[in-house]
Amino acid sequence: MSTISIIGAGIGGLTLGSVLQQNGYNFTIYESAPEIKPVGAGIMMAVNAMQVFDKLGLKEKIENAGNKIHRITLSNESLKPFSKTEILELEAQYKSCNVAIHRAELQRILAENLDQNSIKLNHSLQKIEKKENYILDFENGNQIESTIVFGADGIKSPIRNQILKTGLIRSSGQKCWRGLVDFELPEHHHHEAFEMWGKGKRFGFVKISEKKVYWYACINEKSFSRYSQITDLFKDFDDLVLNLIEATQKENIICNEITDLTPIPQWYTENLCLIGDAAHATTPNMGQGACQAIEDAYVLGRLLEKNKDFNAVFEEFQKIRRRKVDYIVNTSRTIGKVSQWEYGNSLRNFMMSLIPESINQKMAKKIIELDL
Ligand SMILES: Cc1cc2nc3c(=O)[nH]c(=O)nc-3n(C[C@H](O)[C@H](O)[C@H](O)COP(=O)(O)OP(=O)(O)OC[C@H]3O[C@@H](n4cnc5c(N)ncnc54)[C@H](O)[C@@H]3O)c2cc1C
Repeated sequence: MSTISIIGAGIGGLTLGSVLQQNGYNFTIYESAPEIKPVGAGIMMAVNAMQVFDKLGLKEKIENAGNKIHRITLSNESLKPFSKTEILELEAQYKSCNVAIHRAELQRILAENLDQNSIKLNHSLQKIEKKENYILDFENGNQIESTIVFGADGIKSPIRNQILKTGLIRSSGQKCWRGLVDFELPEHHHHEAFEMWGKGKRFGFVKISEKKVYWYACINEKSFSRYSQITDLFKDFDDLVLNLIEATQKENIICNEITDLTPIPQWYTENLCLIGDAAHATTPNMGQGACQAIEDAYVLGRLLEKNKDFNAVFEEFQKIRRRKVDYIVNTSRTIGKVSQWEYGNSLRNFMMSLIPESINQKMAKKIIELDL
C-alpha cells in the first residue's frame, strides 16, 4: 500500500491533511517545530479560503474564533479614504465571509480536525532522496520511506531545493512589523480591513476578535535602521496609528523582511508535489498567500475524487492553479511597490480614487472564485 507524507504543518499542510482525510486517505504530516505554534499575528482568510473551510465543515468554527470583515478601505495617512471595496454582496453570493483571525486560533482549529496520530512534531526533514520510493531523513535520526510526498514546507522548502533544485527567494525591499494588541477600535472600523498609504510606508489594522486588533506597519528598507522606533517612523500618521503601536507590548511585535518566490517552472515531479509557499510564495499585499495554499489543497482533493493516479493529478493541478497563482504573485508585487511610493503620493491616491467600485468588485470576484 502506498504511503503519503506531508512535510510541514503550516496552514497549507494542515488543510491538505483535512482534504486527504475527507477523501479517505491515510497520511502523516511531519513538522519540524516541537509544537504547532505559528508567529503571533493575525491573518485574513478571504472568501475563497472560507468556501474551502465550508466544504471541510470548519467554516463556523473559524468564523466564531475570528471576526467577519465586509469592507476593505484604503486611505491616506490621515484616515481619509480614497478607495473602498464592499464585499457584502460577494459574500452573500458565495455564502462565505472574509474572516480576520489570530493565526494560532486558525492553526489550532485545523490541527484539531485531524487525527492527532497523523501529526509528527519534532521531525525536521534534513534530506530527501528518490530511490524506488522517497527516503526521508529527519534531524531526530528517524528515517522513513514514502511513496507520495507533499512539500508544504514553506518558502525555504528543503523539498523544493533538494528535489526540484529550483527557487529563488526575492526581496521586495520592504520590512514589515506585525503587532497584536488589546484595543477598543472605533465601532465603524469593527468589520473592515483598513490600510493607510503614506510616503514609502503604510499601516494596516483589523479587528480579529472581541478584544484583539492585529496591525502591520511596512516601510521601504532604505528608511530602516537598527535603531528605528516604529512610532518615530509613523509620527506623520493619524494618532490612532501611534495609539495602536504604543498600546502594544514589545513581545507582541515581530518584524520580517517581505519576500516572495520567483515563479518556478514546475511544482511537481514523480510522486511528489509542492503546495502553498513552497510552490508559489507571494508578498502579503493581497492577503492571499495562505488562501492560495488552502485553494491548492482543495483543488488536489477535487482532482483525487475523480482520479487515483497521483502523477496525473499533480499535472492537472498545476495546469488549473497556475493562472490564478501567477496573477496573485505578480499583482501583489506591483501593489506592494505602488503602495510605498516615495514620491507622487497625492497623485497616486487621487488616481486610485478614480477607479470605479465595479473594477474593485471585479478584482475581488476574480480572487474569491475557486478554480474548480
Ligand atoms: C506579513 C505577512 C502577512 C500575511 N498576511 C496574510 C493574510 O492576511 N492572508 C493570507 O492568506 N496570507 C498571508 N500571509 C502569507 C501566509 O503567511 C503564507 O502564505 C502561509 O503561511 C503559507 O503557508 P504554508 O503552509 O504554505 O507555509 P508555512 O506557513 O511557511 O508552513 C511551512 C511549515 O513547514 C514547516 N517546515 C519547514 N521546513 C521544514 C522541515 N525541514 N521539516 C519539517 N517541517 C518543516 C515549518 O515549520 C512550517 O510549519 C502573510 C505573510 C506575511 C509575511
